[in-house]
Amino acid sequence: SQKIKIGIVGYGNLGKGVELSINQNEDMELIAIFTRRDPDSLNNPLMRNIKDIADYKDKIDVMILCGGSATDLPEQTPEIAKMFNTVDSFDTHANIPIHYDNVDKVGKEKGTLNLISSGWDPGLFSMQRILGESILPVGNTYTFWGEGVSQGHSDAIRRIDGVLDGKQYTVPIEKALEKVRSGKNPEFTTREKHLRVCYVVAKEGEDLERIENEIKTMPNYFDEYDTEVNFITKEELENNHNGMPHGGYVLRTGQSETGSKQRIEFVLELESNPEFTASVLVAYARAVKKMHSNGEDGCITVFDVPLGMLSPKSPSELRKEIL
Ligand code: NDP
Repeated sequence: SQKIKIGIVGYGNLGKGVELSINQNEDMELIAIFTRRDPDSLNNPLMRNIKDIADYKDKIDVMILCGGSATDLPEQTPEIAKMFNTVDSFDTHANIPIHYDNVDKVGKEKGTLNLISSGWDPGLFSMQRILGESILPVGNTYTFWGEGVSQGHSDAIRRIDGVLDGKQYTVPIEKALEKVRSGKNPEFTTREKHLRVCYVVAKEGEDLERIENEIKTMPNYFDEYDTEVNFITKEELENNHNGMPHGGYVLRTGQSETGSKQRIEFVLELESNPEFTASVLVAYARAVKKMHSNGEDGCITVFDVPLGMLSPKSPSELRKEIL
């Protein structure tokens, strides 16, 4: 049968991850990668200028949008949805309703189907939270992130005067996780759930105490956490902290009517956050293709996609695997 034709918009960490992930899915083929930069500078035969995207209108089934959530996706998703089915990983929590409305309007007008806010959080973690709450209505939901690199917090460290480079790891506090698992339904302060561990390369001759203090007291980013600051050399940062690991835990602890304790736990351990997020987007691109072929349009989220749509297998093949 015909392969699903995929396009990528934006060639950063996520875009490169999607390119690799397509290789692992035999029912898909990558047609082109669109960038706002000079395509010739990026050394990839599939690279195209985003200005030429309209030429691909009938050649691509689903565009996987890999731009940043802060400024790229709010513009790109509604624009590209005029011509293509799309999948994005929009993760600016407060703006998801407005992003949804913008994309839904275009999708309904033009007859395209667009899935927003896919990935792992938002995405797989959002699904686990709803699953837990639906099955165990009496109980508590907990999300822990890490151990992993937070891009936003690493950027914040780098903006401090006297800092050359830095990486920040978000680390879930094991004692807190154990308390949740025991079924005690604890309530936590921010400080009790996560630790922030920073690796910082300072410029020569800087006052390290001042830098450490500026990090630890930075509002919104660090002041509500216990933060550990380690000064290291540029070489140490490059050799020991060049990956993008991440992951986390979604737990639902509840009780049935007799008081029996029940626990659901979903864990992700990711050596590469962008490569994993990309694989999620690719599976959802398959779902978007199938659901669009069934006549759906507008905007949807992971909550609107039946599980079987993610699989390359047919409904009857899947039924054989139910037990
Ligand atoms: P990047 O910063 O690597 O890429 C974002 C965009 O910036 C690219 O699409 C690219 O567009 C441009 N770009 C990339 N590299 C360069 C460069 N060297 N010079 C100039 N421009 C560049 O971001 P990520 O791929 O790491 O992440 C993208 C988004 O994914 C994040 O903003 C986040 O919202 C989301 N995400 C979601 C997750 C989830 O679970 N839902 C998990 C992880 C990420 P162009 O090619 O057009 O220049």
